[in-house]
Amino acid sequence: MDDAQDRDSTLWGFAQETSQSYSRRQRTWDTTWTNWAGTVTSRPRLTTAPPDATALLRTVDRAVATGERIRVVGAGHSFSPAAATNGIQVSLEHFTAVESMFPHPDNPGEHLVTVGAGIRLQELNSILAGHNLALANLGDIDLQSLAGAFSTGTHGTGVNLPGLAGFVYGVRILVASGEIMEISPHKNAHLLPAVAVSLGALGIIIAVTLRCVPAFHLHAHDKPTPLAEVLESLNGPDGLIHSNDHMEFFWFPGTTGTLLKTSNRVPVDAEQKPHRATQLVHDTRAWIDEELLANGLFQFTNSLSARVPALAAPVNILASRALTAREYVAPSHEVFVSQRRVKFVEMEYAIPLEALHDTFVDVMRIANRKDFSVQFPVEVRTGAADDLWLSPAQGRTTAYVAIHQYQHSRYREYFDTVEEVFRSVGGRPHWGKMHTLGSEDFAQLYPHFGDFHDLRASLDPRGTFTNHYTNKVFGRVS
Ligand SMILES: Cc1cc2nc3c(=O)[nH]c(=O)nc-3n(C[C@H](O)[C@H](O)[C@H](O)COP(=O)(O)OP(=O)(O)OC[C@H]3O[C@@H](n4cnc5c(N)ncnc54)[C@H](O)[C@@H]3O)c2cc1C
Repeated sequence: MDDAQDRDSTLWGFAQETSQSYSRRQRTWDTTWTNWAGTVTSRPRLTTAPPDATALLRTVDRAVATGERIRVVGAGHSFSPAAATNGIQVSLEHFTAVESMFPHPDNPGEHLVTVGAGIRLQELNSILAGHNLALANLGDIDLQSLAGAFSTGTHGTGVNLPGLAGFVYGVRILVASGEIMEISPHKNAHLLPAVAVSLGALGIIIAVTLRCVPAFHLHAHDKPTPLAEVLESLNGPDGLIHSNDHMEFFWFPGTTGTLLKTSNRVPVDAEQKPHRATQLVHDTRAWIDEELLANGLFQFTNSLSARVPALAAPVNILASRALTAREYVAPSHEVFVSQRRVKFVEMEYAIPLEALHDTFVDVMRIANRKDFSVQFPVEVRTGAADDLWLSPAQGRTTAYVAIHQYQHSRYREYFDTVEEVFRSVGGRPHWGKMHTLGSEDFAQLYPHFGDFHDLRASLDPRGTFTNHYTNKVFGRVS
């Protein structure tokens, strides 16, 4: 039997077991998959979006029996090849239903919301808002799938708040044996710190219970601020990091300017000041900042600088000067999230907070090098320590420093040089972003790395949920 026939008969086998529409969806096996940034391409042998847990279980059973590899893909927004596979690519796009919402039994003020793991954050945010609830913190976009986001340690900013995985109260996960395990503080509790950031390497997360908070608004200030002033005022109880619920800044290489963004919680009945969509219609200045600079003009200047690298510095100076201060009050998820239409590549490391100042100064020197022609800002955020085995913030209050480059520009030497700086302070890379580390490095960086390896070996002894990336970062299971 040749390869094509083999694929067809396998497909037919699947099709017989499931509904007609499901079998049609599976016939997309011949397509090439690419992630958002265009940095990863793969050709899954089969792409499938099971309609329910029974169909998903059949897919997993069959893969285990035939020695096939499975990767779940969320929204494909990882810059790393975390989701890539040449085996079976599973999408949980039909696992989006909200199953339950009730007050947290032990923590008044919080709600526990159980939802399908494939839901996109955007949809989840709007459902939560409809029930006067919210996620306590978010990253800067909302296009990711819920499980894809927390499985890689996705985070926002706020020194007292963990990343998304820190709000996972429990999961339902399908493991290679075919068992659907409940993991929560009441069942298999010891596995929760392992599964919360696990890159799909322990099994397929089907549903998630999240700790949610009452809906809140954020009072936000976006203010162009000299870099020297930002660096001087970062620390101390009254410093930018500790005196704001959320603080981040973007520094434009080749300039002395930053865009400093702070936001603080206000009650949901606080008077709103228009934000984004509404504001854009009425306020030309906001439109220039938000649309033209952040997306349209930025796209133009980046593609220009990609062709003429010497233009990167002058363009950065112009862009940083053109930004204006803005103040707004809006529902939390609207403030957290931005549009990111200009495609870029990114490396982000989590470093100990106390190393931030000196590390940033080192990164700055590198990003200012003319030969690197850096077009994109360096971004700084913070996060609380957590106790999740593979969370980049495990065991320490964290600063996240991210470097970017325009999608079509040279980035490798810039990233490699900065990565040395990150590594020199015990930095841990974001699992969904670019880095060059392997399992031996991670064994030094994470105290529970060996425990995770053992758990993987027991839950997935045949390596069903592996790909090149998991082999590289976790080692082979067998
Ligand atoms: C424009 C942009 C902005 C970003 N902003 C931020 C930010 O502010 N903060 C931040 O921390 N990160 C950010 N990221 C990174 C992004 O949040 C992560 O890479 C995230 O994993 C992407 O989610 P996804 O749904 O696309 O997952 P994918 O990239 O599709 O998958 C990620 C991993 O999750 C696994 N997975 C997916 N679903 C499941 C499941 N149901 N069960 C088990 N495993 C599963 C996959 O197998 C894979 O290993 C950004 C990325 C982009 C492109």
